[in-house]
Amino acid sequence: MDAILPEPKTLQEAIVYFSNPDRCFAYAVKLRWPDGNVVCPRCATAKHSFIKTRRIWFCYTCKKQFTVKVKTIMEDSPITLDKWMVAFWMLANCKNGISSYELASTIKVTQTTAWFMLQRIREVMKGKKFGKSKIGGEGNELEADETFIGGIAKNMHKRRRLQADGLGPFKNKTIVHGILDRNLRKIRAKVVPNVSRETLQDEILSNVKFGSTIYTDNAVAYGDGLQRRFVHDFVNKTEAYVRGRVHTNGMENFWSLLKRSLKGTYVAVEPFHLSRYVDEQVFRYNHRKEGDRKLTNADRLAVLMSQVLGHRLTYSDLTGKSDSPHHETTGTGAEVPF
Ligand SMILES: [Zn+2]
Repeated sequence: MDAILPEPKTLQEAIVYFSNPDRCFAYAVKLRWPDGNVVCPRCATAKHSFIKTRRIWFCYTCKKQFTVKVKTIMEDSPITLDKWMVAFWMLANCKNGISSYELASTIKVTQTTAWFMLQRIREVMKGKKFGKSKIGGEGNELEADETFIGGIAKNMHKRRRLQADGLGPFKNKTIVHGILDRNLRKIRAKVVPNVSRETLQDEILSNVKFGSTIYTDNAVAYGDGLQRRFVHDFVNKTEAYVRGRVHTNGMENFWSLLKRSLKGTYVAVEPFHLSRYVDEQVFRYNHRKEGDRKLTNADRLAVLMSQVLGHRLTYSDLTGKSDSPHHETTGTGAEVPF
């Protein structure tokens, strides 16, 4: 039976895999209720009956029906689960992002529909912001850097652009600030209003544990104050981009990934929407690896789905060190009781 197809590895396999409504449904159910205990998303009770022909449950407690889409970004959407799953797959795994045109032609919806789907998924990719949790720590090396997106001088190096632009450095440009923890291999990035000392240092203060080592360039904004709480070192980019371990090449790599996706895929992005594209790129970047283990496309889909469905995957879920439904040998093929 095709119900026990192995988990998809490529986009083509994903399209085939999710085109079977039963298989697609079972996959989503497994991700939503990993322990197999389906509970009503509205009242959280488990007293219900499953209507198999319609793939819905009827809750005896609140007397309402629910589907696997209820209380997710898919709720109230007429788009079928198979199309959503392929969209999740593509956004989780296509390194340079996907355009609404690509998605539209892949899953056969209008471009407008595809655009709305993508925007909803990007919202989910943002995750539950970071709260008070910080990256870094004693012994961790981090890079902090900013980049300018849009505007006529977009191909110029940022310092030269600042000098060249007599009308004000930020005219027509959107600024994105980012921090990379080299040890954790995680990035935090967001659109910021300006490159003042207060703004940039505030990003670092609120995201990085005191005592961390931070590398920046020699921008004035980083010049003073950081060394009180961090080990701070910088490269003077008019002289060299690298001095031993002191460089921001990791952030530069991220910026080029982001810019490639913006130029190649997203033809024109208004500043208002830019933060969503940043979140999207951060999601893919931060889920390349967990520890030393390289995540597969199916893993990344599972992480994204866990955010869609409102629960978090743990490290052990991802590494298969538990009874994860995604585990290569124990997770696949096991029938989930409905
Ligand atoms: Zn209920």
